[in-house]
Formats: sequence, C-alpha cells, structure tokens
Amino acid sequence: MAPKTGEMLHLRGNALNAGEPVALPLTQSSMYHLPGVTEGLATYGRVDNPTWEHLEHVLAHLEDAPCLIFPSGMGAISAALFATLKAGSRLLIPSDGYYVTRVLADQFLSGLGVSVTERPTTTFTEGGFDGFDVVFVESPSNPGLDMMDLPAIAASVRAAGGITVADNTTLTPLGQRPLDLGVDVVVASDTKAMGGHSDLLMGHVASRNAQIMEQVEDWRRVSGAIPGPYEAWLLHRGLETLDVRFDRMCTSALVLAERLAEHHAVKHIRYPGLPGDPSHTLAKAQTTRFGFLLSITLETEDKAETFINSCPMLRPATSFGGVHSSAERRARWGDDVDPAFIRLSVGCEPVEELWQSIETSLNVL
Ligand SMILES: *Cc1c(COP(=O)(O)O)cnc(C)c1O
Repeated sequence: MAPKTGEMLHLRGNALNAGEPVALPLTQSSMYHLPGVTEGLATYGRVDNPTWEHLEHVLAHLEDAPCLIFPSGMGAISAALFATLKAGSRLLIPSDGYYVTRVLADQFLSGLGVSVTERPTTTFTEGGFDGFDVVFVESPSNPGLDMMDLPAIAASVRAAGGITVADNTTLTPLGQRPLDLGVDVVVASDTKAMGGHSDLLMGHVASRNAQIMEQVEDWRRVSGAIPGPYEAWLLHRGLETLDVRFDRMCTSALVLAERLAEHHAVKHIRYPGLPGDPSHTLAKAQTTRFGFLLSITLETEDKAETFINSCPMLRPATSFGGVHSSAERRARWGDDVDPAFIRLSVGCEPVEELWQSIETSLNVL
C-alpha cells in the first residue's frame, strides 16, 4: 500500500506532550545520564540516539517495515550483506548495477570466502537461483534503467531457500515498494532523493524479517558504522518534503522525456515512463511512479560534455535526486555505456524553465 505521507508529517506531533517543540530536536551527545540501573535507558552514542530513533520511525512509516539508518548507502548495503552472508555463502549480484556494490563484493566479500556471481539485469533469471544464499537486485538499474521482475525473482529465490535484497535508491518507497513485492530486505542510499538537497550522505536498511534486522543492528553497533545525529536530523527534514519533491521530479521527468525523445540531438533515450521503453511494461506493473532519472545518448562524447557543462540548469555532478537537476557522462566512471551516454536527474525546477534551458543548450551543439 502507498505510504501515507500526511500521517508521516504528523507522527511526531501526535505523540507530543504540551510545551514540547514541534520540530525534531537534534541530540548531539555521546553520553547519557546513567546513575545506577541502566535497563531500558539510552546508554551510549554508538548504540542509541533519539534523533536517529525518530528518523527511523518516519522511515519505517514510509517502508511499512522496521528500519535502521547508516551513514551512507554503502554503509547500509555493507550492513545488509555482512549480516546475511558468511564464508561459503553464495551471492548473486547484477553486473550492471551501482558499481560500488560490485567492488564491495569482489574486493572484500570474496576475500572472506563468499562466492560472488554476476549477471546482467535483463537476463538475471537465466540460470535460476538454486544454491544462492543472497540474491541482490537493483531495479531499475543505475545507470541503465533496466528493470527486473521483482515478484517473480523474489518468489523463485525464496522457493530455492535464499533471500533477496533490493537496492531501491532510484525510486524511493514512494515510487516502488519491494517488500510488498516479496523482497526480504530493502537497502537504499538516502543521499539521493530521500535527503534531496545534496547536503548529506545517509542510507537505510528495511526488513520485516526480525532476525535479519537484529543482525543488521548488531553489525551497526559492532562495526561502528553509525550515522551522525546532525545528518539524521537533516535527512528527517528532507523527508518532510519528499512527497512534493518526488511528485514534481517524476512529473517533470516524463514531460522532458517525451520532448527529448523528439529532439534531433538525442540519438537514444531511456525512461521507463515512455511507452516504447524496454522497462515500460515492468515499470507499469511494479512501480507507482516512473522516477526522475532518465538517460540520453548524444552523438559524441564532446557534444555530451559541452551540453552538460553549458546548460545553466544542469549541475555537472555525480549523484542524483537533488532539488537541482544534474547530469553526467557515466562512462567517465567506467560504467559500460556509450561515451556520449548522459544520466540526467530531473530536479524541482519549474518544468518549462528547465525545458527551455535544456532545449537551448541542445540546439546550439
Ligand atoms: C548512490 C548509490 C548507492 C551508494 O550510496 P552512498 O550514499 O553514496 O553510499 C547505492 N546504490 C545506488 C543505486 C546508488 O545510486
């Protein structure tokens, strides 16, 4: 079911006592006043923090599942994988998803005795899921925007005795709800649209499996991969406008995609919301919005660079999901894409202003 974002905005207010601040207080403390018995009390800043706790309460409302926050998306992904894998485990990951997840698997997990297999997103089910302990999925993939049939994959993995972990960064819980589609664990980088203002790094893990969440929490406490209270406070503030930002961004992305598809400078476009897009059928079946990310391929790398660097309403930057539209050539990080392939993150600018700026810059290439 879609998260009730109105209820989310009043989660704190409806639990307040008279005279308490309406805005979430930032608790910046490593110590707690602990005379004698400590049972049931906050103990130490690596274990407890009231600002985190309220943020997790809001995230749990969005995910409809218990949540734990981490200092970055990779912190959350590491926690989910270290909590579910051990020496001898078999892990399956996409070969064309967010590349740092692959680095984690290849450079660190495989050295600890985890056997790692990679498959492309579009043929992910080929070969089945027998023998895999953890199947990590990302749909739509970053940056290709290919999608996977999440309910079918989650069901086959479960039948084969494994668990699925889904990276839901690109769509947020407002665009797609992997747990409702049968996935066991959701991980996300809240650095992107969830925070939305390009001023913080954060991540979270969500799951309805209590045993997994207990392991993830133990991992956080023991590894020390804890978020700073200030970042938690900022993310909470960002979440209060997630609904309006995400709505504007997805609506504008569809308008821009339709127009970009017709522009002579654009050789190729991917946006799951376009009826001809290879991801369209899956997107219609399992997402509630088509997202704010699209990709265009121009004629040459030079033209792509000129466009990104000269369009006054595109920040030439890595990362995405901010209020400011941004773009970059993904080949510069080694993603297996055309050198003129641009990932474009549509922000909150009024769409006609944004289109005018993009069109003008494309026209002069
Ligand atoms: C950015 C990103 C991550 C990593 O998140 P950080 O907050 O940068 O650690 C993971 N997965 C996807 C899909 C991302 O886009």
